[in-house]
Amino acid sequence: MINLYNYSLEKLEELMLSLQEKKYRATQLFKWIYEKRVTSFDEMSDVSKSFREVLNRDFCLVKPKIHKEQRSKDGTIKLLLELEDGDKVETVLMRYNYGNAVCVSSEVGCNMGCAFCASGLLKKKRELLVSEMIGQVLVIDDILKAEGNNERVTHVVVMGTGEPFDNYENVMDFIRILNHPHGLAIGARHITVSTCGIVPKIYDYAKEGLQINLAISLHAPSDEIRKKIMPISFKYPMNELMEAVKYYEKNAGRRVTFEYILLNGINDSKEDAKKLAKLIKGTLAYVNLIPYNSVDENKYKRSDDKSVRDFMDTLIKCGVNATIRREFGSDIDAACGQLRAKDEKEQL
Ligand code: SAH
Repeated sequence: MINLYNYSLEKLEELMLSLQEKKYRATQLFKWIYEKRVTSFDEMSDVSKSFREVLNRDFCLVKPKIHKEQRSKDGTIKLLLELEDGDKVETVLMRYNYGNAVCVSSEVGCNMGCAFCASGLLKKKRELLVSEMIGQVLVIDDILKAEGNNERVTHVVVMGTGEPFDNYENVMDFIRILNHPHGLAIGARHITVSTCGIVPKIYDYAKEGLQINLAISLHAPSDEIRKKIMPISFKYPMNELMEAVKYYEKNAGRRVTFEYILLNGINDSKEDAKKLAKLIKGTLAYVNLIPYNSVDENKYKRSDDKSVRDFMDTLIKCGVNATIRREFGSDIDAACGQLRAKDEKEQL
């Protein structure tokens, strides 16, 4: 059985042609699936009976199952989802006053090996399918619908477990479904992809012609410090990363966001802030400072509030825009860098 949640509209059109169906069938199906949220082919009343039989025989519409649900005091919901093969991933709903944002995982585990992050404690097992990423958003949308306040998912950040640019094609198709007017119709500017800096993929992304936001996990003002905490920087040093960012800004016409976790005594001095400002001068980027969330297995500590404020003030004095990231769901281990399908680890 082939899961139709794996298909962007373009791919669905190709599929219809390969089944000797008219191309417009794809739009019909796509509307049933995402606008009307139908999960049974029999409800698709404008599809011929004979084709519905084909659909019932060879295709399915399967979403991940909720294995565990945790709710935080602040309204954040963390789901541990079970995929068809039994693998598990986490998804988080964050409620902002401007809308509902879902933090989507892109892989089972992660191979990037960032020293401070919990997600990498489990090595990458596999990349997620398009259906497994769109499924995360649909499951959250179902929860919002059940709450009965007429709310829906309005924003998506690909910032859960995994490196999205290590699963590039699937992430792009996932985004096409999110963004399509007959898909989830989420505006490009409400979608953000975050990468640890896989340089060749930043060039590819710049050429996609999408208006999606790009965030880069920078976390250091120099190669020297970055190499200590992010192995990816051995492969793609800072100068190559900055060149890619400038290329992206020029070709995509968008600025990037640099994410910067403040780690006590590692990258959080005023000197570091000055170096960072110098490094990113010449880009339009702004810096999103992330208070570090502790992870039991490592030695890193959160910078104190004063250092965080001083760091931000120094950046601003140097002419760099900076904000401090708001935290969600830290009481349920749902905050940045804490996703890791804990249950799963306990079972291993
Ligand atoms: N692999 C992608 C997507 C993950 S995004 C990337 O690296 O961008 C998750 C964000 O949370 C990244 O910026 C990551 O560096 C950050 N993060 C990881 N561990 C953290 C922690 N313990 N506290 C706060 N932020 C963390």
